[in-house]
Amino acid sequence: MPPRIPLILAPTPHHRLHRVSEDLGIDLWIKRDDLTGFAIGGNKGRKLEYLLGDLVQRGIQTVVTCGSTESNFVRQLALACDMSGIECHAVLMEQPFEEGYRVAKWPRIGEGNRRLNRLSGLITHELADGTWDELFAAAGSLSAELIAQGKRVENIPIGGSCALGAYAFYEAATEVTGAEVVVHASSSGSTQVGLTMAYRGSGTRVIGISCDPEPALLDDFVSLSADLGQLIQRPGLVRSDLDLRYEFVGEGYGVPSPEGDHALRYLAQTEGIYLDPIYSAKAFAGLLDLSKNELAGKRVTFWHTGGLPALFAFP
Ligand SMILES: *Cc1c(COP(=O)(O)O)cnc(C)c1O
Repeated sequence: MPPRIPLILAPTPHHRLHRVSEDLGIDLWIKRDDLTGFAIGGNKGRKLEYLLGDLVQRGIQTVVTCGSTESNFVRQLALACDMSGIECHAVLMEQPFEEGYRVAKWPRIGEGNRRLNRLSGLITHELADGTWDELFAAAGSLSAELIAQGKRVENIPIGGSCALGAYAFYEAATEVTGAEVVVHASSSGSTQVGLTMAYRGSGTRVIGISCDPEPALLDDFVSLSADLGQLIQRPGLVRSDLDLRYEFVGEGYGVPSPEGDHALRYLAQTEGIYLDPIYSAKAFAGLLDLSKNELAGKRVTFWHTGGLPALFAFP
């Protein structure tokens, strides 16, 4: 087992949603990774336990990552680094986009993660919006600069999606048994890859609801699964092992959707549980839609991946 630094309160709760179950005609449970107890919760805390375990073991002093200004990963990485005495840099864009998938800039009404980042030791480098590739390149140049200053620097991939991040979800799957289907928000891939590898060959199917529009995502997931496979000495996944649904993305990454907005209000008003507009609300909108046909009558777990600070940033 890779080295781990404890950050979250695991296992997170897994409980039935009685009202929604009755309403939708499915046996719906929810996995509360919004309640990890670390940095306002969210799925990134699990990955960071292993990422930080590795950084500390290797004596890394400085890390560089990138993402959107409302990145939930950056918020949690910043605090995990503070706790371990690691200097953390993040290169950020408000609404990065994939070449060919640019949509109108969504207005901000305030700050969620960006505000919280100022309460951590995070060193931010904010850029004007551009493509994801431009963002990755800028993070690469920053690391090169820091290395030139004589620092030992590690680049942390976006969303913490490396073998260790996926490993965290491979482990997390042991906290949820008995589900026929697990539904969750998917983006950089380690949540879906870890869960899918863990449940492979069992009676549990994993459906990831994509929060990004680009079809090439699936190739990244396959290659990530090969990296995880190497770590746990199992074969990786092929494309057909991964069930990633694109029809609930809406206009694009980082842009709330009307269906997500409806799902967010619905779950809050029926069960007292908030979703976030960028990830989990779109995933729950997907679940609401699928409950009419392929999930009907099934025992389903919705894996709540957190993201609540973004509620304060988007209208
Ligand atoms: C990062 C994130 C996801 C996606 O998880 P990945 O492992 O990156 O696919 C889903 N929901 C929320 C709230 C997130 O912050």
